[in-house]
Amino acid sequence: MEKEVVLSGIRPTGFLHLGNYFGAMRNYVRMQDDYNCYFFVANWHSLTTHPDTKELKNSVHRVIAENIACGLDPEKVALYIQSDVPEIAELYLYLNMLAYKGELEKTVTFKDKVRQQPDNVNAGLLTYPVLQAADILIHRAVKVPVGKDQEQHLEMARNFAERFNYRYGEVLPLPYAFNYDSELVRIMSLDGTGKMSKSENQMATLYLADDEDTIRKKIMKAKTDQGPETPGSAKPDYIQNLFTLMGLVSTPDTVKKFEDDFNASSAGNCIIRYGDMKKQLAEDMARFIRPIREKAADIQHNKELLSRIILQGADKARASASATLQLVREAVGMN
Ligand code: ATP
Ligand code: MG
Repeated sequence: MEKEVVLSGIRPTGFLHLGNYFGAMRNYVRMQDDYNCYFFVANWHSLTTHPDTKELKNSVHRVIAENIACGLDPEKVALYIQSDVPEIAELYLYLNMLAYKGELEKTVTFKDKVRQQPDNVNAGLLTYPVLQAADILIHRAVKVPVGKDQEQHLEMARNFAERFNYRYGEVLPLPYAFNYDSELVRIMSLDGTGKMSKSENQMATLYLADDEDTIRKKIMKAKTDQGPETPGSAKPDYIQNLFTLMGLVSTPDTVKKFEDDFNASSAGNCIIRYGDMKKQLAEDMARFIRPIREKAADIQHNKELLSRIILQGADKARASASATLQLVREAVGMN
C-alpha cells in the first residue's frame, strides 16, 4: 500500500528553539518511517513579516542543518526550500481565484498581523492561507502535523480544495491536522510570559544553537517563587514549565525527587530548592542540546554537503509537485 503523504513547514524567521523541537521536529522524526514526508523551509512565507532578507539565506541553511541534526534523514524525507519549487507559486495563483477577500480578512492570524504590523498590511499577509494551501495541496498531502493555532488555515485549505474539485474535477484530496499525541507539548518561555519563540523574548527562550554557558545562564534566571503555600498545591505555569522541561531531558528519578520535594513543601516549610532544581535542569539540558548544536554546526559549515542535501530535496519535491501541477493544469484547461 502506498504511504500517505505528510507535509509540514517551518519559517526561517530566526533560531530554532526547544518549542520547535518538542512541538514539531521531534514528531517529524517519528513520522519519517511511517509516511511519505515532505518538510520544507517556508522562505516565501517569511517575506510577509520579515521583508529584510540580509540574513534569510543563512537562516534557511541553519533550519535545514538543524532539522537534520534533530534526526530528519534527507534520504527518507523530502527536505526542501519552498522557493526551490516554483510549481507551488502556480498553484497558489489558481487557488487565489477561488479564495474570497471576505473570508481572508476574517482569518484570526491576519487580524493579529494587522494589529502587529499596521504599516505593512501587504497582500501576501492576506493570502497567507492560500499559499499555505498550495504548499499542502501541491503534494496532495492528507496529513498535516500542526498545532491548534493552524486549524483555521487547514479548514481554509480544505475549502479551497473542495471549490477546485467542484469547479474543475476531483484532483485535490482534503488535508487534515494530524499528530501522534492528542495534545502537543507547548513550551513556555522561561520568564513565564507566553511561549518560547523564534522572533520574540530571546533571553527566555532556549535555542538549539545555544552553548552550555548560555543555557546555564538562561535557566538559572528562570522565574521561580517562594514555593507552594500548602502541600500538594497546583503548580504555577512557570514552575510547571520547569517540570515539563525536566521531564523531557532528565531521568525519571530526578524528576520524581523534585516532584516529591514540591509536594512535601508548604509555606514556612519549603523543601524544594529551586536553585538546585535549575542547576540540575541546566546540566541535563546542556547535555541534551550539545550533540544537536554540534551536528548542526558541522552540517552548516560543510557547504558541499549542504548544497547536495538542498538539491536532493528540491528534486524530490519538484517531482511530486510537477505531477500534481500537470493534473491541475489539465483540469483548469491550461495544458
Ligand atoms: P515565530 O515567532 O516566527 O512565529 P515560532 O517559534 O512561533 O516562530 P513557527 O515557525 O511559528 O515558530 O512554528 C514552527 C513549529 O513549531 C509549529 O509546528 C509550532 O506549533 C511549533 N512551536 C513553536 N513554538 C512552540 C512552543 N513554544 N512550544 C511548542 N511548539 C512550538
Ligand atoms: Mg509562530
